[in-house]
Amino acid sequence: MSSRVVAIVGRPNVGKSALFNRLAGRRISIVHDMPGVTRDRISAECELGREPFTIFDTGGIGGGVDADFTKQVHAEVEIAVETSDLLLFVVDAHDGLNPVDQELARLLRKVNKPLILVANKVDDPKHHPQAAEFSQLGFQPVIAVSAEHNRGIGELVDRIDALLPSPESSHDEKALQRPVKVAIVGRPNVGKSSITNGILHDARTLVSPISGTTRDSVDIPYQRGDQRFILIDTAGIRPRGKVDNSVEVFSVMRSEQSIRRADLCCLVIDASMGVTAQDKKIAGLIQEAKRPCVIAVNKWDLIEERTQGKEALREVLTEFEESLFFLDYAPLLLLSAKTGASMDRLFKRIEDVREGSRKRINTGALNRIISAALTQQPPAIRSGKRFKILYATQPATTDRSPIPLPEIVIFCNDSKLLEENYRRFLISKIRKEQSWEGLPVMLRFREREARAVK
Ligand code: GDP
Ligand code: GDP
Repeated sequence: MSSRVVAIVGRPNVGKSALFNRLAGRRISIVHDMPGVTRDRISAECELGREPFTIFDTGGIGGGVDADFTKQVHAEVEIAVETSDLLLFVVDAHDGLNPVDQELARLLRKVNKPLILVANKVDDPKHHPQAAEFSQLGFQPVIAVSAEHNRGIGELVDRIDALLPSPESSHDEKALQRPVKVAIVGRPNVGKSSITNGILHDARTLVSPISGTTRDSVDIPYQRGDQRFILIDTAGIRPRGKVDNSVEVFSVMRSEQSIRRADLCCLVIDASMGVTAQDKKIAGLIQEAKRPCVIAVNKWDLIEERTQGKEALREVLTEFEESLFFLDYAPLLLLSAKTGASMDRLFKRIEDVREGSRKRINTGALNRIISAALTQQPPAIRSGKRFKILYATQPATTDRSPIPLPEIVIFCNDSKLLEENYRRFLISKIRKEQSWEGLPVMLRFREREARAVK
């Protein structure tokens, strides 16, 4: 799905669905005379312009006209505004202006988004809409089209092309070039310095350390292929003190600062020790800070010595996963800084996480997954009310960090009704479609009164 999204808004029956199909390059066969007949799809790619863009028909949301029509229209407009880069406001040239058009125009004038007013059903060029009538709405110029007879569509697409941002915005390019700040965190003695030394040992472009914010913290630039990294607050440089309790507590505090500065955390755990309370504390900090994460289970050589066979290894691994269930998005990576096994895979994994952050979930698939999840296991009723989802979508990201977090906007009745278990359940379903390994999936809620899909 492209991140250039065009939303079609307008009152029922003006021909939004017909226009949608026309732009999607499909035969117009699913237009119904009855307003609000559910469309089979609400978003599609349009390839008629210089660059593809996604079109999105808000008329398909929530199955159409709600008992409370104004609320429905308001919800549709807000969803359209939230999720798109450009709005097509469709009116019916045949019927002329109508109070609902006026109401929509009033809402849309407040919106800070490019908008094109489209007068549809101008089947015959002689019947050009009375410009005066539509110019009352306050959007110029008016583009006259006939979705059904394929008139004016080229002109409309040109105009859309001109108003949309270019496909690869310079922002994204810059984000890709920016170095990824990686914090290697963990309690003392798990092998952070050994891992860091292992990384730097084969560093081809090692630049001299940059002083960090505190006396003994150091940031080290590191390059691997085309990708630049900064290993932040690297502990490996500082002389190792005696490991006692106060050192452990201090190290947790220190980790907290590094975690906040990082684009990605590599949590190091000592495989021979299992998951300790301090490990969990640091893992909790990463989860609270909502940081991308990979978990390096270090000293794997010791485990391999001790356990025999794959079964036993699998058991050990399951134990790790269970103890760190709250960081379930982070992949576990077995390595040994001592033998050097799998060190290369660590950065490969980090690169996978970064690449994954560019992936988007298709809106149609997302809504199908959610709808199926709600049916399969409906949310519990709380104080007489059930959590309902109207629509979900992944808007274009505004996160400019090198590893932006996937964010999904959920239009629902009341987000307070959503229980933590259920939130996890939904996210696990979403991850089956788009795994986003190593990345926390953010849910943002928009509350709506309008009738829900389920
Ligand atoms: P929506 O409710 O806004 O999505 O409207 P539809 O796309 O379902 O269209 C409503 C009605 O208008 C249907 O009967 C269509 O056949 C008709 N319609 C759509 N576009 C045109 C057009 O360009 N010219 C004419 N004459 N009728 C159209
Ligand atoms: P830090 O305090 O987290 O930076 O941990 P260090 O890198 O200083 O390692 C602590 C101890 O664990 C040292 O004695 C290392 O030699 C040892 N160590 C580190 N990585 C491994 C490993 O993969 N296998 C084994 N067996 N020992 C390791």
